[in-house]
Amino acid sequence: MITIATTPVKTYLSKSKIPGFDYVINPYIGCPHKCVYCYAEYMRKFTGHSEEWGDFLDVKECNIPLRPGKLFRTRVMLSSVTDPYNPYEKQYQLTRRLLEQLQRCQARVYILTKSALLLRDIDLFKQMPDCEVAFSFSSTDESFRQLAEPGASPVAERINALKVLHESGIKTAVMGAPLFPGISDWKEIIAQTHSFVSRYGFDGLNMRPAYQRKVLAFIEQHYPQTLPLYSALFLKDEPTDYWKKLGDEIQTYCQNRQIRAEIYFGSSRSYSGN
Ligand code: SF4
Repeated sequence: MITIATTPVKTYLSKSKIPGFDYVINPYIGCPHKCVYCYAEYMRKFTGHSEEWGDFLDVKECNIPLRPGKLFRTRVMLSSVTDPYNPYEKQYQLTRRLLEQLQRCQARVYILTKSALLLRDIDLFKQMPDCEVAFSFSSTDESFRQLAEPGASPVAERINALKVLHESGIKTAVMGAPLFPGISDWKEIIAQTHSFVSRYGFDGLNMRPAYQRKVLAFIEQHYPQTLPLYSALFLKDEPTDYWKKLGDEIQTYCQNRQIRAEIYFGSSRSYSGN
């Protein structure tokens, strides 16, 4: 059962701290996709919600339109701490209304989602300068998706959405993130998507203390054979070259196949995005 409310905000725009973006828009607070590894759960403490992450959704409300003079040609990301295409977007159409404004502002929009609902707005993407749409995958295994990302679109729907976007001339990307040690098959993510994608980003599982226990409980319950690896990587204070080696392996694999890929782990763990 989800609690839905509207919440007034002064502006939809936040100045971006993410390299490469001028602004970030999070149309909603909360995310019904309810991914077990969601790093955005920290947002809960700013909202006063007592519900679990994924069980509440605040729909932001602001009557001040986005200003073309301010946004012309700026790089705007949707979204960093929610998914702009959660299932309730179908009803509220808030992301769509914001995209209509961004299109009029001629902003350069980057969208990161796990939902095929995004295909609804393909007409707008076609009218935007330098628009890029990215889907994130931790795995192409649908049973993993059902366990770890219960509210997100099935894997096959995301891959099909990439195909439709690519065939419509929209720039597409895949964020292979977060990669779960011993579980995520990154080669399979590439194999199933590379015909429709111009670039990749990869990041590892980032176990912040706030949700480490939840993720480890998930691993213990569903992937117990990998638990020793998770203990070694996340519970021991010993240095590990696991991420460096994995990053190097992905980089070499992609270079050999002329696949454009950025690795956000190993030396720096800087991935941001849903
Ligand atoms: S889709 Fe993104 S923001 Fe939503 S729960 Fe999953 S990781 Fe969090």
